[in-house]
Order: sequence, then structure tokens, then C-alpha cells
Amino acid sequence: MNRYRQSIDKFQEAKAYVAGGVASSLRVSMKPAPLYVRKAYGAIIQDADGHEYMDYMLAYGPLILGHAHPGFNERILEALRKGSTYGMQHDGEIQLGRRLTEILPCAEQVAFSGSGTEAVMLALRLARAYTSKRKIVRFYGHYHGWSDAIFTSFPSPDFSSARPTEGNSDIVPGTNGQSRSSLQDIILLPWNDPEALEETLTQHHHEIAAVITEPVMCNSGCIAPKPGYMEFMRELTSKLGIVLIWDEVITGFRMGLGGAHERFGILPDLVTIGKALGGGIALSAVAGNREMMRLIEEGTVMHLGTLNGNGLSTAAGLAVIEELSKEDGQVLKDMENTALRLSDGIRSVLGRNGHQVVVNQLGPVFHVMFIDRTEVNDFDTFNLRDTNLYTLFAEALLHEGILVRPNGLWYVSSAHGEKETEKTLLAVERVARKIA
Ligand code: PLP
Repeated sequence: MNRYRQSIDKFQEAKAYVAGGVASSLRVSMKPAPLYVRKAYGAIIQDADGHEYMDYMLAYGPLILGHAHPGFNERILEALRKGSTYGMQHDGEIQLGRRLTEILPCAEQVAFSGSGTEAVMLALRLARAYTSKRKIVRFYGHYHGWSDAIFTSFPSPDFSSARPTEGNSDIVPGTNGQSRSSLQDIILLPWNDPEALEETLTQHHHEIAAVITEPVMCNSGCIAPKPGYMEFMRELTSKLGIVLIWDEVITGFRMGLGGAHERFGILPDLVTIGKALGGGIALSAVAGNREMMRLIEEGTVMHLGTLNGNGLSTAAGLAVIEELSKEDGQVLKDMENTALRLSDGIRSVLGRNGHQVVVNQLGPVFHVMFIDRTEVNDFDTFNLRDTNLYTLFAEALLHEGILVRPNGLWYVSSAHGEKETEKTLLAVERVARKIA
């Protein structure tokens, strides 16, 4: 009897009705099968066959409080009793807007939407309208959602089944069916390379509206910026009249309540947040200075969305902020310690068992890479990692009751503590021997 029988059968059944059998293409890459979930609580998720897993995928990031957090759920239920969405204004929008402007150093105003993709779309639009320029500089290995205007250069095993066959010099559409012309305004650069940035921005600043960057390259190796790089980017963009957008859809709330820009002490012009902001409910936002956000008030930039700022989502955002603010932010500190202990432990357990591994950790997120190097600090090196071995590792971990993303990025939530860390490291030890 196959251990994942129920999930395998359900996946087949779903394929009859749901295109591709899954609701987001990324999910199909899970081995040995895309799992079906029965229920989840705390750090635990239970599949349709009744197996329980310690969850480090956390729905690809949003579940910073873990699953079914009681305080969070209570707030959501309370909001639901008053109706889920009105298509009109309500106090939740004001409260969450005010809290975000208090928490995020870059935020004088915010604009709500439902997903990271939408927040990035709005940020790009604001930048273009503000500067009256068209080009956008983005970086190899970063991911900014799947809208046509930005979806390129994200070679990850997660996406391998959707790789396009067509190409257009360096700028390869992220998927077939994507308009080629949509990427005409994109300039792709290597990240953490101040010379490349300086050369391009100096030469083309008259047509560059914005530089968009993840502050930590979470999507490809959890790579931190080189000392001085982000400061240089800020200086250069300010000097040349280019809008600086930090895509904090992953780092927002994870690197601290004020995001990576607070942690690094740098003020971008616009910041996009999502994922953890909603704690599992669809919510994202663009935050920025009043001068740029005013374009929305003036009607220069349209900001639309039927469900924007709905009562459920604002209650979710407020609940996440409330929980993470408790005890002077101790929850986040604990989470970060857990990630540190886990990443140190995984590094040493795998190393002890003869595996060459690099584990990059920053805040409550880390990337595990099997690679014949001592460090991974750039995208080219990241691409040298052994993805097949990691797939084996992830699949073997699943057997041991540990659920991880197939691409190597681990998320930690406030529900992960010492007990969970210990259990996980024992499982990693067993798996390390098995795949040696
Ligand atoms: N930006 C970053 C940095 C992301 O990691 C993601 C998603 O993984 C997005 C944007 C897109 O967010 P969403 O999947 O909510 O559209």
C-alpha cells in the first residue's frame, strides 16, 4: 500500500476538474506527489492519509504564526460575524493603515491588495507614473510575482515544468503565453554587483523608472546583500531620480516588524509586503512616502481590486501585528533563534554525515543547499547546487514527518520551538545517513 495513496488518488481526481490538478503551478513539483491536507494546527500539518508532518513550508511563507493560531482565528471569526467584505470603507482599513505606517519606517501611506503579485504591479505603476519613465531594473534570481510585466528569470526547480521554450536574449519569459512585449521594459542585472548597477543606471537613468529588489535574495539561496551594496543602491537611485522599490513580500515581518528596511536602516521609496502580513489570509500592500502615494489620491494612478481591504484581510493583518508585537517583539526573536538553531544543526548533522552543504539563514528563514562550496553568496554559485540530491533529501524527510519546500527554502513560525527543533534534527540525522 502506497503511503501517500489518498493524496495520489485525490490528485488524479482533481485533474478531471482543476487545471493541472493543483491551484498554483508550483505545487505540482512536490515529490512523491502533491499532498492533500486534512487539517493543520500549530507547526503540524496532517495529510489525507493521516500522516502528520512538522511543517517548514508554511504555505510558502504566510503562516508566521503557524496553522490555526487561536488568537488569530478568533479575530478572523469576529470579523466574519460582521460580514466578510463590503466594497465600502470600514474601520479595519484605517486601523491597519495606521499600524503599518507606525511599524514600517518607509510608510507614510499604504495601499491594500490581495497578493504579492498585485502589490508589485501597483508599485511598478506608481514608479512609472511618478518618473514618467518606463524601464525597470530587476535582478537575476529574484522573484516578484507572476504578472506579465515582471515574470522572468526565475530558474528554480519549482518552475521547471513550466519553463518556456522560446527565448529573447537574456530576458526569457517566465511562461509560455506571456506577451514578449511585456518584458521590453525590463533590464536584468546580476545582484550584489555594484559595478554592474552603477554602469547601467549611469548610462540609462533617463529611461529607468525603478529598481526593484528583494532586500535578501530569499528566493534563490537566502543570500544577504554585501556590506554597503544596498546603501549604494539607495544613494545611486536617489541621485539619478530612480524610484527604489524593495519587494518585502517574504522579508516583511520576518526580518522584524519593520521589515528588512528597518533592519538594514535604509529607506526605499516604496515597499511591497504580503505573505506574513495576512498570516494565511489574502492580503498585501504597497507602502511608501506620501509624495508617491499621492498619485493614487490624485487619480493619476489607478489602484483597483474588488476585495482590496476587505474586513477579513484587515482583521488578519491586525491580528498578525498584535501577536508579533507581544512582549516587545519576543516572538520574532524566538523565531529567529529557532531558525538559527535549526540551520546550525542541519549544517552540522549533514556535514558529519559526509554531505557538503551550505545553509544560509537570515531571520526566521533559511536555505539548505547541497553544494561543493563553502559559501553561496551569488546567483551563479547558487545555481551549482545539487537539486537532485535536495529532492531526495526532501522526499526522505517527508517519510520522517518533516515537510519542506522542494526548492530548499525553509520557513519557521512562532509555533516552532525547541521541541520541534529537536525532533527535526533527529529526523535530519536519520535522513542524512540514508542518502549518504
Ligand atoms: N515577491 C516576492 C519576493 C515573492 O517571494 C512572491 C511570492 O513568492 C511574490 C512577490 C508574489 O507574491 P504572491 O504569490 O502573493 O502573488
